[in-house]
Amino acid sequence: MTDRAPLDRPHADRPVVLSCEAIDQSFGGLKALKGASLQVHEGEIFGLVGPNGSGKTTLVNVVTGFYPPQAGRVRLFGEDITGIAPDKIAGRGVARTFQNLALFKGMSVLDNILIGRHVHMRPSALGTLFYWWWAQKEELANRRIVEEVIEFMQLQDIRDEPVDVIPLGLQKRVELARALVAEPRLLILDEPMAGMNQEEKEYIARFILDAREERGVTVLIIEHHMDVVTAICDQVVVLSYGEIISEGPPQQAIAHPRVVSAYLGERAAKRHQRQEAS
Ligand code: ADP
Ligand code: MG
Repeated sequence: MTDRAPLDRPHADRPVVLSCEAIDQSFGGLKALKGASLQVHEGEIFGLVGPNGSGKTTLVNVVTGFYPPQAGRVRLFGEDITGIAPDKIAGRGVARTFQNLALFKGMSVLDNILIGRHVHMRPSALGTLFYWWWAQKEELANRRIVEEVIEFMQLQDIRDEPVDVIPLGLQKRVELARALVAEPRLLILDEPMAGMNQEEKEYIARFILDAREERGVTVLIIEHHMDVVTAICDQVVVLSYGEIISEGPPQQAIAHPRVVSAYLGERAAKRHQRQEAS
């Protein structure tokens, strides 16, 4: 791992929001994470990058409690949350979006966003969720934050549309809105700009920066678009085959020779796959 000067890290004197310490995660014989460690400080936009299959989503799944790690600890605001259930971790102020959208088809944009208020939700408790939703529908505090976020994310015009008929770029925005209404202290975004054009990407980048400024959230973002990473991230770690191979301010971290060869390796593997297929 590269050393970094504290001066390169403007938020380094702030409290540590998230700390992953030597995380191991295997699926059968496949080691998806090998001793992965990172520290996210309050107010940072922290980038997690690396070639496909390098373990980025797995790390997020460990942090959010979907996979209890085989080794290592996860600390949130200094408290050990290793092995705690996802709903409990959500209840401690962590909200996330998913690489593959996880919206409720057939329900409106507004209803999908309202679900974000259910920070103690468990997937098995959907029945309870809808009861709760109806019971609390008029609840003012919920309404206020939901309306605020709809406005903030500029979703007013499509609030009553079924979520599955709107374009992918807007669906991604709805998912981000759903995460924001939970009023998270740590917001985790798994490829929020996948499949977006340049204009949509810039929109989302602006929302993320504004969410930090106006709502005070700390952001952990998995992102493939390096232009976005260098534009908005304060600090970056690069994963390759489950190991952190570089870290630091974005331009510096990404330019490391190990990172360059990890991505070249990915390209060569893709070329090889294409040749095999043809
Ligand atoms: P990334 O998000 O960086 O593209 P992932 O974290 O999704 O990578 O995957 C890392 C590795 O772990 C890959 O080889 C992937 O196939 C494997 N993997 C991820 N989740 C599972 C799972 N639930 N079961 C088996 N293998 C998995
Ligand atoms: Mg992924």
